Amino acid sequence: MKVIKFGGSSLADATHFNDVIKVLQMDASRRVVVVSAPGKCATDDEKVTDLLIEYARSHDKAQKEIGERIINRYQQIATAFHITAAQFDPLAEQILALPTASFHGPAFRMATFKAHGEKLNAQLLALILNAKGMPARYVDPHELGLIATQEPNNATVLTQTYTHLAVARHQLMAERDLWVVPGFFAYTLSGQLVTFSRGGSDITGAILARGLHASEYENFTDVDSIYAANPNIVTNPAPISKMSYVEMRELSYAGFSVFHDEAIIPAIEGQVPICVKNTNHPSAPGTLIVPTSQSQPKRVITGVASSKRFAALYLHRYLLNREVGFTLKLLKILFRYHISYEHMPSGIDDLTIIFDRNQIPSDVLPHLLADIKATLQPDRLQWIDDYAILMVVGEGMRNQVGVIDRILHPLATHHIGVQMINQGASRISIMIGVREAQADDAVRLIYNDFFNQPVALPQRQPAQEVTHG
Ligand code: ASP
Repeated sequence: MKVIKFGGSSLADATHFNDVIKVLQMDASRRVVVVSAPGKCATDDEKVTDLLIEYARSHDKAQKEIGERIINRYQQIATAFHITAAQFDPLAEQILALPTASFHGPAFRMATFKAHGEKLNAQLLALILNAKGMPARYVDPHELGLIATQEPNNATVLTQTYTHLAVARHQLMAERDLWVVPGFFAYTLSGQLVTFSRGGSDITGAILARGLHASEYENFTDVDSIYAANPNIVTNPAPISKMSYVEMRELSYAGFSVFHDEAIIPAIEGQVPICVKNTNHPSAPGTLIVPTSQSQPKRVITGVASSKRFAALYLHRYLLNREVGFTLKLLKILFRYHISYEHMPSGIDDLTIIFDRNQIPSDVLPHLLADIKATLQPDRLQWIDDYAILMVVGEGMRNQVGVIDRILHPLATHHIGVQMINQGASRISIMIGVREAQADDAVRLIYNDFFNQPVALPQRQPAQEVTHG
């Protein structure tokens, strides 16, 4: 039995729905289908989830108008498949009812609005499959016992879910129906609707694949495979046919957005292979993501990713290595501001903390820096706002000597300053901090070196630093 998930671009309009139906008809072992909300399409470049966020935030006439636009997206698909008004109206009514419904606070309200993108899409797909004579039914995460933490818009799954899914598996085996499950949302123990982080339908698919003991988790999107570098940065990067879970997790953390980084975890826990495939080209083999023991690396590196969502705080203080409690005081300040950090490389007299920039609103930053200054009295404090992280990943580098040299050499030749370098404990990744403006060039150079594609880059001087405090 396979769990199969379709992303928003695969369900953006009626033409794409047709492709999805073909994929479902091709293989009877595809028993559980997880759907995202309709994404961008040729005639409409708005994601329904973004429209729902606007819908939640607006009022009166503007709200009514956005509600109509949302309903219209589904209506167009329904009309193309001859879904009757009697069947479609209950779906539209769910959207119309949202503004007057009552919620446990604004964050839970926002979660429920957002979740309706996938909820309606799953209900609509079930109707269309039935109209085509395929036995299928809508299955709500509530029916499956999908339980998550009390974080309305950034929830994580609770382990009780897997006990519930073991029961659901018997039900699935006893039925003929294909289950159509909306991705992205779950419920708290007290029954409140919560969503995972953005792009979280991948997470739902992975949880179901683990809990229902799927033989494979197929993740259908709009590319033929995962590539060794971002195709917007490197021209025609090499496709990756097979990679390990750890490689995928590290690459998706640092910018490979094809697959949500949190979605790897349930797949690892259940040892379910993931296959990323293209809805528009389902016969292409895609990328298979498997346990390390099965990954058979063909090259030293499998991929190079970069993410520009970071910022860093550099602290210098002499004899830092001898000072008891310095880091503890720092972490206590971060805790007070409810800020988590990503990495913390340190030296004898200095420490850098790397943050996801979205964690720290610009009005909070001056207060945070002032508190750190007052409490820790560093000799030097520098805030670097344009920090990018590159992740060079490959099971093939585990036992190789000289990989760091091969990475750093072309960067040095092209005057790309390395702010930080960190070899992961797993020995399959090297993390490099560079200035944001140089991140794309750095990716091209590293890719070129390991994948042999010469690139001509302009010689340039290192960028100026931006300093606060
Ligand atoms: N529709 C949600 C989003 O846009 C979840 C998803 O697409 O996976 O974030």
